[in-house]
Amino acid sequence: MSDPRPRRLTSIPREVDDNAISRYVRFAPDSGQILLFDQRMLLMHGFTLAALRQELIERLGLERTRELFTRLGYQQGMEDARHLHASEQGELERILAYGPRLREMEGFVRNQAVDHVQFNLETGDFWSDYYWESSWEAEVHLKQSGISGSPACWMMTGYATGFTTALMGRPILWREIECVAMGHARCRVIGQPLEECDDAEAHLRFLQVEDFVSVPKRREARSAPGPGDAEVNRSLPDLIGASSSFNTVAYLIKRVAPTDATVLLTGESGVGKERFSKALHAIGPRTGKPFVSINCAAIPHELVEAELFGVEKGAFTGATVSRPGRFERASGGTLFLDEISSLPLHAQGKLLRVLQEGELERVGDTQLRQVDVRIIAATNRDLRSEVEAGRFREDLFFRLNVFPVKIPPLRERREDIPLLVDAFVKRYAARFAKHIAGLTQNASEKLRAYDWPGNIRELENIIERAVILAEDHGSIDVEHLFSGGEQVPNTVAQAAPPAATHGPAPAAGASPAAAPSRLIDGILDAGLSLGEVESLLIDAALARSGGNLSAAARLLKLRRGQLQYRSDKRSAS
Ligand SMILES: [Zn+2]
Repeated sequence: MSDPRPRRLTSIPREVDDNAISRYVRFAPDSGQILLFDQRMLLMHGFTLAALRQELIERLGLERTRELFTRLGYQQGMEDARHLHASEQGELERILAYGPRLREMEGFVRNQAVDHVQFNLETGDFWSDYYWESSWEAEVHLKQSGISGSPACWMMTGYATGFTTALMGRPILWREIECVAMGHARCRVIGQPLEECDDAEAHLRFLQVEDFVSVPKRREARSAPGPGDAEVNRSLPDLIGASSSFNTVAYLIKRVAPTDATVLLTGESGVGKERFSKALHAIGPRTGKPFVSINCAAIPHELVEAELFGVEKGAFTGATVSRPGRFERASGGTLFLDEISSLPLHAQGKLLRVLQEGELERVGDTQLRQVDVRIIAATNRDLRSEVEAGRFREDLFFRLNVFPVKIPPLRERREDIPLLVDAFVKRYAARFAKHIAGLTQNASEKLRAYDWPGNIRELENIIERAVILAEDHGSIDVEHLFSGGEQVPNTVAQAAPPAATHGPAPAAGASPAAAPSRLIDGILDAGLSLGEVESLLIDAALARSGGNLSAAARLLKLRRGQLQYRSDKRSAS
């Protein structure tokens, strides 16, 4: 095997100033607190945590407990890195050296470097190799469970992964290759970029919501993509996260999925409500049956009933054929009602009756048809205040609000950003047949600092655009990400990267029309069709305007109706 250690790496300092770290720790007995960078810490008996760990193993099993502790560690590592980064003005060499020392001070382990952490921010390279001696987790595991078939330092590998991932801005995976709990003389861990680990999936699943990412269809779709699999393949990878707020949602979705209960998803525009609803459908008993979605805001009021409940020939001008509505098309499966608050009052009344009776009449018809669908509704508005304002029926609200799940905005789960970015970069690099080395440190920091008003949809759009704009075999840099200045509505022309290095340069004083030639080159090189370019533009405009169609239309210099038409045409095709 060739030496995986990359060249031109910076090594972290071997000696760490303990006093420098100690100043972040504050014992404040008068307020009943211990603080590490203003985070509350607990000095508790190790044996109580060991007892909890053992009880969880007995109740949940080894694998689940391992997931739990790995994610716990990941979150701690992320938080410590974030605070250190802010306190040390981003001096990465020193911060990376503080990590292992902090763990020693916290009493978890003694680090003995085989190879100290070495890294290169520009290329994203990372390598390190440590012995862990006197590991708390390995000791308690060995004592309570005996010799183990797999490594047991879960919280610590999770911590190291979270800590270095936060600092490098790309997933750095730590794997334990020897562990005292397995009978080795000492534990040994290796940290390296995720994509360099051949068994990454096996380790990564301890950070993820396993049921979501390992839906069998997705794995099949990956090896042999067929037209039918594409949707499943696309719909699941975004459900990646290790943050506590993400896991809360994932837990609720997994609990409610096997039931037939109506679910109400709330949250800002772009947080992934439709993707969560697809995942819910995919892991529930109706999987294999249709998943039909309808965006209540995208359909003209006078047509919404026909769209939902179907129409009989001759019911109104233009109804030249009888056709089933979305309810009938979703028969046996799930109907996703997006932006439910936009449903006009007359349709709300009819929807309520259908939900109560389990049967419907098509528009212009008298025949009653049985329907069996599970309802998932979603809204980015507060339905209670819509009820108070008289815009939403209270009885329908109670009917839908059986199992509400609030999906957090991306800015409240920033620790998931590196995992999401990694997934999106892989997806679009594959789609545009490009090799992307990763993100520069500067780019990663900008992503972390940004406020994400358009949430995950905006992140995905930005990464998609960045993959198109970045050089093949190059890294994604800031100008590829926020190429238009995300706060200010901007023209497409300004989205061109300022410092590209190939292709003819526009002449000085060139007309505005000549300026985006680099962008055009980028689009042509990416092999995008005209339709795909239009689709990308529409998505980007919608994301930038927080899903507001009128604002998006202004960005694109279109009338609202024109944008509506193009957007509908796209979802119909
Ligand atoms: Zn170990």
